[in-house]
Amino acid sequence: MNGSTDVDLALCVDCVMILCNDDDSGCREPERHREALAERWGSEPYRIVVTGEEYHFSRRPCDGCGDDDDGDRMEATAVAL
Ligand SMILES: [Zn+2]
Ligand SMILES: [Zn+2]
Repeated sequence: MNGSTDVDLALCVDCVMILCNDDDSGCREPERHREALAERWGSEPYRIVVTGEEYHFSRRPCDGCGDDDDGDRMEATAVAL
């Protein structure tokens, strides 16, 4: 950790909804998403901030849940606290 450890992310729709709105009502696999998010970010001193304006198609795996299917992604940043 050296003070500039912000990490650029691409998040799927489900992760954005869960992270920003704590809403998994539209998610097909809410438990898997919550577990994956907790596993990746639960113990890290990060705050995840959505920086994108809208979703865009991407082949990049989701940095939240690890989904690697092509789909909509939102840009976000994990800000080191
Ligand atoms: Zn995701
Ligand atoms: Zn997902």
